[in-house]
Amino acid sequence: MSTFVTQSSIASMEEYIEEIKPIFESKRMTNMGPVYKKLQHQLMDYLDVPQLSLFANGHLALEMGLQTFDFPAGSEVITTPYTFVSTTHAIVRKNLVPVFCDIDPRDYTIDVSKIEDLITPRTVAIMPVHVYGNLCDVEAIQEIADRHGLKVFYDGAHAFGTTYKGVGVGNFGDMCMFSFHATKVFNTIEGGAISFSDSDYRVRLHELKNFGIHGEDRVTGIGGNAKMDEFRAAMGICNLRHVDENIAKRKAVAEKYDERLGAVPGIRLMKLREGVVPNYAYYPIYVDPRMFGKSRDDIYDRLMRHDIHARRYFFPATNELECYAGRFKLQKTPVAHNVSMNILCLPMYADLELDEVERICDLILRK
Ligand SMILES: *Cc1c(COP(=O)(O)O)cnc(C)c1O
Repeated sequence: MSTFVTQSSIASMEEYIEEIKPIFESKRMTNMGPVYKKLQHQLMDYLDVPQLSLFANGHLALEMGLQTFDFPAGSEVITTPYTFVSTTHAIVRKNLVPVFCDIDPRDYTIDVSKIEDLITPRTVAIMPVHVYGNLCDVEAIQEIADRHGLKVFYDGAHAFGTTYKGVGVGNFGDMCMFSFHATKVFNTIEGGAISFSDSDYRVRLHELKNFGIHGEDRVTGIGGNAKMDEFRAAMGICNLRHVDENIAKRKAVAEKYDERLGAVPGIRLMKLREGVVPNYAYYPIYVDPRMFGKSRDDIYDRLMRHDIHARRYFFPATNELECYAGRFKLQKTPVAHNVSMNILCLPMYADLELDEVERICDLILRK
């Protein structure tokens, strides 16, 4: 049997059928209906955030969130290239210019000591990424943003349920995006959300995801279509019931990996920020080929020969993607480059058997 890097968590069919019955009765399938509203409020409770808007997916949430700020075209957004392509694409597709900041070699989030050198008169926002369910240095980032009058929009696609000093991740910055894609810790099949506290954003986000329609016959914004439908919201309601149990199972997997790989010379584990309770979204290892004697790709290939599909993620860094070649001044980010060349995400999901984790570790450690 193959083992993949992830396996979606899905509630039982019976639970789902129970949850979608009312949709068949009301025939209300989309446009922010009762199931949408129920999930929205359950998630506001779970994430402990004051406001939340649901979307068809995380990527469109990033685009619509950026649009809400009304930045002039060509404005600069400081971000990192150590992310999924979605973050950088969203900036570019909204006619903004990504400015790439390097990352911290220990936790792979934005290196806060390098942000200020990148600020110019055109800088309008910082868009950092909470990588692998860990958290950025949210305090330092906010301090820099306040000093320079910048917005902060977090890509929290990996960080569903993560807390810092007891505060939900969605409370930091002006906005935080979550992805509910099937591969994420919590899913609605496809889906996403933005949490925020400024109530001015509420109506804007609501309208932008519905073509910019305001009331019945006014169109006040150049929006698109990014609404979460009732069936996906119903899946979310079912999956949310099991998310804590799933995170606990992920934790057991992470602890088994830690035990086997934590003290191996040449293998470096991600450093959790102090005060963070993570969601165990991913299990990345950084492989130092000289110290370990084998490279990241050697391990990847060996696992593949045993039908275990680990993933080189994030690789390549987004400022090295061919679609961006020659388009912008692409800042050099040697740490992000180095990490992307040596990182490997091992299989991590709630139903991964601990025996299988042992087998994966045996294969990694075998000389
Ligand atoms: C998954 C992901 C996204 C995109 O979310 P979708 O829901 O798949 O559109 C954006 N950024 C990061 C870091 C992600 O992991």
